[in-house]
Amino acid sequence: MIVVQKYGGSSVADTDRIIKVAERITAAKRAGNDVVVVVSAMGKSTDRLTQQALEIAAVPPARELDMLLTAGERISMALLAMAIGEEGFTARSFTGSQAGIITDAAHGKARIIDITPGRITDALAEGHIVIVAGFQGVSRESKDITTLGRGGSDTTAVALAGALDADLCEIYTDVDGVYTADPRLAPKARRLEAVTHEEMLELAASGAKVLQVRAVEYARNHGVRLHVRSSFSHQDGTWVEKDGTMEQAIISGVAHDTSEGKLVVRGVPDKPGVAARIFTGLADANINVDMIVQNVSADGTTDVSFTVPVADGPRALALLEELRAEVGLGEIVFDDDIAKVSLVGAGMKTHPGVAATMFAALSAAGVNIEMISTSTIRVSVIVRREHVERAVQAVHDAFELDGEQTAVVR
Ligand code: ASP
Ligand code: MG
Repeated sequence: MIVVQKYGGSSVADTDRIIKVAERITAAKRAGNDVVVVVSAMGKSTDRLTQQALEIAAVPPARELDMLLTAGERISMALLAMAIGEEGFTARSFTGSQAGIITDAAHGKARIIDITPGRITDALAEGHIVIVAGFQGVSRESKDITTLGRGGSDTTAVALAGALDADLCEIYTDVDGVYTADPRLAPKARRLEAVTHEEMLELAASGAKVLQVRAVEYARNHGVRLHVRSSFSHQDGTWVEKDGTMEQAIISGVAHDTSEGKLVVRGVPDKPGVAARIFTGLADANINVDMIVQNVSADGTTDVSFTVPVADGPRALALLEELRAEVGLGEIVFDDDIAKVSLVGAGMKTHPGVAATMFAALSAAGVNIEMISTSTIRVSVIVRREHVERAVQAVHDAFELDGEQTAVVR
């Protein structure tokens, strides 16, 4: 069977760790598997390289930044291949481009559009362990090297697992799985044995940092089974699988995100085309809008609030100022002192009262709710940032997520 293993930066942080990882990889090979390994750059080296680029240029050219950052993964892949050689096995390392990871030309956030893994399958057929540099590919259009965005090695691994029809994609990291909440905020949080792709997608999109959102999206679309686990132990981690293959808890976890800010636009004319104008402008500027709330209008105008990544706040503000005259907007306020707290669980589809319980828990904890949004399996609220810890704990407690066994439905 084909197994894809991905090792994150902390798992290959130094040469000792690389040697340890090589032992784990060769054990999987010895057990009779065809093994494809995807590696991240060592430790914090992507941060370090980015920092060096910024010391030279305030806005480094995107093409050169991608050239620079992809070097991080090339270092770890080559060292790992050597360590595997020392274990008495042969390994072949490949850059993303050599591995056939074809992307669009969007530097820094490229999307994989095709995978031509001929060199990987050839190397496997020759009995080698294959190592692929994560987080990178090549654009067919521009012929340039691209990166898939921070945390993109997850996506490389999942995409390869899909393309190779691998039986399993193991994501090795420095935590032992996906938790019911961030243990730094909620000390009672516990590891989840299994979640569905849908739940993991909502958790990742709501701020859980274990997996890159795009990787989960890919896993869901291609039915790739994931096992998120620690490279520091041999214990089982968290399985991420299709719906219906597992027992389903009503609630799987509470995620939080402090990377967004809230824009409030007052005096928005309440007539067709205005919202379209505002959000088309933001979309054209590549600003990702998350929650949107529009008030009931009075006197022909209304208030519209929405959240955007804090980093995009100034650009969004500037854009709205430009639209102010054209569309006739009122006061515009940007508030980056907020946090989003999200409750996720596939069982809420069929269980009424989940949102009510969440809101009651927040109110009992003295946390004010500023915005609300929901999907079929998620309820998110915006609260003051200073309340994030209290809010996560209150919701975690209200749904007894620390319990040995949470309520289970089928
Ligand atoms: N090295 C890249 C990063 O730090 C990609 C990855 O680790 O997945 O974001
Ligand atoms: Mg990473």
